[in-house]
Amino acid sequence: MNIQEQDREYIAGTYSRFPIVIVSGKGSIVTDIDGRDYIDMTSGIAVNSFGVSDEVWRSAVCEQIGKVQHMSNLYYTEPCVKVAKILCERTGLKRVFFSNSGAEANECAIKVARKYAADKKGDDCYTIITLRNSFHGRTITTLAATGQVHYHELFRPLTPGFVNAEADNFGEIESYAKIHKTAAIMIECVQGEGGVIPLSPDYVKKVAQFAKDNDIVLIVDEVQTGNGRSGKLYSYMNYDIQPDIVSTAKGLAGGLPMGATLMGEKVKDTLRPGDHGSTFGGNPIAAAGAVSVLERIDDELLAGVRAKSKFLFDAFTNSQGIEQVSGMGLMIGLKTAKPAKEIVNQCMNNGVLCLTAKDRVRLLPALNIPDELLAKAAEVIKKACK
Ligand SMILES: *Cc1c(COP(=O)(O)O)cnc(C)c1O
Repeated sequence: MNIQEQDREYIAGTYSRFPIVIVSGKGSIVTDIDGRDYIDMTSGIAVNSFGVSDEVWRSAVCEQIGKVQHMSNLYYTEPCVKVAKILCERTGLKRVFFSNSGAEANECAIKVARKYAADKKGDDCYTIITLRNSFHGRTITTLAATGQVHYHELFRPLTPGFVNAEADNFGEIESYAKIHKTAAIMIECVQGEGGVIPLSPDYVKKVAQFAKDNDIVLIVDEVQTGNGRSGKLYSYMNYDIQPDIVSTAKGLAGGLPMGATLMGEKVKDTLRPGDHGSTFGGNPIAAAGAVSVLERIDDELLAGVRAKSKFLFDAFTNSQGIEQVSGMGLMIGLKTAKPAKEIVNQCMNNGVLCLTAKDRVRLLPALNIPDELLAKAAEVIKKACK
């Protein structure tokens, strides 16, 4: 049996994979088992921040592998402290809890918000308002937070205490907060899985002010939008707000599993010994990868992300077969005349890997994708959309 057949035989059938086997790569080029190269406009769904097998990242990770790969959270280790310090200094948030995925980072955010509200307003104050069309993960609780019912079917009962308000409709937030004793409001500034749809600046500001005025914890899910993807370190920085909690994962460690929940002044002491934990959380190898990634996301890199973003917006706007270009930074959605799946398949056959998000084509290239590759990929995508 070849790899694809063995995968179908032995691996749970949760993914409908594209029919190629990726074996290696360099930067924004990945190579399949037959030696065919592709320009990667997916970066492992916004994970490989600096592409595949990046040398700076690799040497940081390998150096740590040569020291200690894991030590449990019963002892102090240096790499996770370095990550936490960078994150706090660059966001103004105060404490970090480390986990291994976006869903776990959100679970922690939800626990912190619930505990803060229970301590402060009583344990009947637990409702978390999330948005319709959001995506917050696949665990039973983060599914409950996710405002897309098609993910819920057949997994009920989900964790109670979540309601979904319409995105960009501030009136609904106000009225839900009147009906339910509300612990937190949780948003993605750009709904990623929901189709790469940014929230409007006015709405986000109003929500942040409302949360502040009512002592409601504002959680921003930066799992996909974070770590330079939006053209700022975190997408909320494009909106001039200060969240109480930021959750992130995907691109944080550049290809290693790491989730982080950043807690601001209001909730920085909410978690006490025994309240939460994770065996792998803060793992030294993942943390070494994250230090390397975060140190490179500087003003120059971010200016590059914004320039590459503008290039893509210009390339696709008013291009034949493309009805709308949405997104922020290097997180771009294309509403196309032809079905998105068809376009993605055609691009793959022409040597460019792309994603979908709902009915849109979604592009999430590495933050440092060379301009020549970006231009080549844009041509292939435009042709496929025609
Ligand atoms: C991917 C994603 C998650 C879930 O992350 P996992 O690492 O797959 O658990 C949560 N929130 C958002 C916004 C995401 O894009």
